[in-house]
Amino acid sequence: MQQDSDTGGFRMRIAVLGGGVGSMTAAYWLTNPGPDGVVPDHDITVYQLGWRLGGKGASGRNAAMGNRIEEHGLHIWMGFYANAFRMMRAVYGELNRPADVPLATWKDAFKPQTVITMMEKDASGQWMENEWVVATPIMPGEPGDQTGFGDPCDYHFNLINWVKERIEAFFDGREHHGSQHTHLDAHVLHLKTLHAALHEATVHAGEPHERGKRKPKTEHHHLLLRIAMEGVQELIGLGFRLTGKCVELQRVLFLADIAVATIIGSIKDLCGKPFDAIDDQEWRSWLLQHGMHQESAWCSVIRAMYDIVFAYREGDAVPKNADLAAGTTTQTMLRIYFDYYESIFMKMQAGMGDTIFAPIYEVLKKRGVKFKFFHRLREVVPSDDGTVIDALRIGVQATVKTGDYEPLVTIKKLPCWPSQPILEQLVQGDELRAKNIDLEDYDADWSDVDELVLKRGTDFDHVVFGLSIGAVPYVCPSLLKQKESWRTMVERVKVVRTQASQLWFNRNVADLGWTSALNGRCFGERAVFGTFIEPMDTWADMSQLLPLETWSVPVGNVAYFCGAMKDSDPATTDVPRENLRNVLENSMYLAWTYAAKPGKFHYDWLIVDEPGRVVSDEERFRSQYFRVNTQPTELYVLSVSGSTKHRLDPANNGYSNLSLAGDWVYNGFAIGCVEAAVLGGMKGVQRFCPGMEIVE
Ligand SMILES: Cc1cc2nc3c(=O)[nH]c(=O)nc-3n(C[C@H](O)[C@H](O)[C@H](O)COP(=O)(O)OP(=O)(O)OC[C@H]3O[C@@H](n4cnc5c(N)ncnc54)[C@H](O)[C@@H]3O)c2cc1C
Repeated sequence: MQQDSDTGGFRMRIAVLGGGVGSMTAAYWLTNPGPDGVVPDHDITVYQLGWRLGGKGASGRNAAMGNRIEEHGLHIWMGFYANAFRMMRAVYGELNRPADVPLATWKDAFKPQTVITMMEKDASGQWMENEWVVATPIMPGEPGDQTGFGDPCDYHFNLINWVKERIEAFFDGREHHGSQHTHLDAHVLHLKTLHAALHEATVHAGEPHERGKRKPKTEHHHLLLRIAMEGVQELIGLGFRLTGKCVELQRVLFLADIAVATIIGSIKDLCGKPFDAIDDQEWRSWLLQHGMHQESAWCSVIRAMYDIVFAYREGDAVPKNADLAAGTTTQTMLRIYFDYYESIFMKMQAGMGDTIFAPIYEVLKKRGVKFKFFHRLREVVPSDDGTVIDALRIGVQATVKTGDYEPLVTIKKLPCWPSQPILEQLVQGDELRAKNIDLEDYDADWSDVDELVLKRGTDFDHVVFGLSIGAVPYVCPSLLKQKESWRTMVERVKVVRTQASQLWFNRNVADLGWTSALNGRCFGERAVFGTFIEPMDTWADMSQLLPLETWSVPVGNVAYFCGAMKDSDPATTDVPRENLRNVLENSMYLAWTYAAKPGKFHYDWLIVDEPGRVVSDEERFRSQYFRVNTQPTELYVLSVSGSTKHRLDPANNGYSNLSLAGDWVYNGFAIGCVEAAVLGGMKGVQRFCPGMEIVE
């Protein structure tokens, strides 16, 4: 500790390694006023490789191409991200931007997305043209208002009611716009019976889980509910035999089947326990074990859960590789559907770097946090007795000509991260440009220009490790040697590569022929569309970003695609490009009826920012943005069965002066997402932050 001459107290010197969501959350809380309003006086330095914060959520503006936003992949926040939204609301509040700039407030930065679309195949394996459009209601409150979440057995009423509402929607026609089917008497009678049985069951289901209030139920309640649910399960089985080709009936049955198996499973395995008590089991197997029918085992709702978290071992997106821990996935599903405030999804209104990491950077900088860009952690060195971190070896990738590196550029009044370092500020700028070096690439052909060895007691007292788990073998070899818990974690917590593409069109989405928009089924919202062709299974219309880009040609639409990537694929952008070409030419006609026909795609509608130049279709396609996330810390953290218990506690990890931060630690919510990374960052430093309130 450092003696503080002003206060007579001690300043803790904290080295924050990496600038992703987890470590930035830790830095935010370490500099946040306590309950007494006093701001802690820590001396904090962030060491970040390359030129920008954000990690897997980093984005950059490409100055050579209309300042287009280039992302690691599609990022959408969920309305249940209580801790993440609380922080962002406070960050925007503290930023206090003038009203006339873009993203002046957090409400400008995030907008609701209530509709999602899932693609499905019929029994013969053909894609159905009648895609599954799920419209979710707007709920009271705003994301971040949550005060707590339910225990596993608190959601029974919500689950039953949810299915009842789907059945009611079936009858009032909301669920089957465009349907060609006439519903048979048997279907109608069956659904009415199912509805009545569910209604009866609500009597035993206790009260709805609402706004964090926990209402314990008795064992007697659970016994009766279980009996009622087992009866409903029989009815669902009968329904599957009746459905024939009635897609709408089948969809209701899928939802009912998942909900009922979840209720029975939670009563049998989870009451009074945390969700992750069953994380050694695989989610689908667990649902099947609790009576879910085989018909539902790979329906779109199930598949969507695997797709959104890239949950495929070795990145090979086939059902046999799908692996999700049962409890964590149940927790995630329940939070997504029943714990959101305002909207199920919240879409960012600029790149994630611009929306999240630029505001956090500005606030932390104002709070006195120091940022060392181009500082690459090479090694965390523990003491010989394995109790503390003794030293940090940091490679300096480039040196700044004068003063601090200023990392942001202003585009249309918005502070943004560039897609390349601002080379003019660097002594080695010309050389980096000439050699075309990517300083985020662990294998770049570039040597550090200097090395710092930071010492415990002299340069730091405490360390926040915010690199992701994929980097641990590279930078923590001695910790792995010293502690079995670290070795087991690295072995059992799996990661996966991901791939992403972005296309810019001179047409808007209706002109592309987006079928749901054409027939009014997406209620005027932009598309978020999934469970489609692997590996690029997800498409989102992100055209809300276009007003913040600076193209010299008219742009009507930007489409983001994303998915898992096989371990066996070469780590080049040819992979997403060719995967996307396959989707565009062979399947996209199902969604975009004008832009694509079987075997053909309107590549001439893609834009290049050079008005008047004659450009071939291939050149247009290749100039779009394609990305693979294959660097160690870019690897997406999976929640495979049997892994949660091997995650390390972020505060008690075997080294007394080390906190871990990120979505890969044991944080009570073991799924790879922003909220989990925020929780990881908070729990890592909670002991130093008396004012911290964690919503869980
Ligand atoms: C393609 C994709 C799509 C996703 N979509 C969503 C979504 O829609 N919603 C959602 O909630 N989540 C999504 N996620 C997950 C989300 O991005 C992560 O949960 C979150 O960003 C993890 O943050 P983190 O702090 O744990 O780690 P990271 O983001 O990995 O941060 C690690 C930090 O360490 C830095 N670093 C790495 N090596 C070094 C080094 N040697 N020295 C110094 N610094 C270093 C990195 O640059 C980075 O700043 C997605 C992830 C991917 C890959």
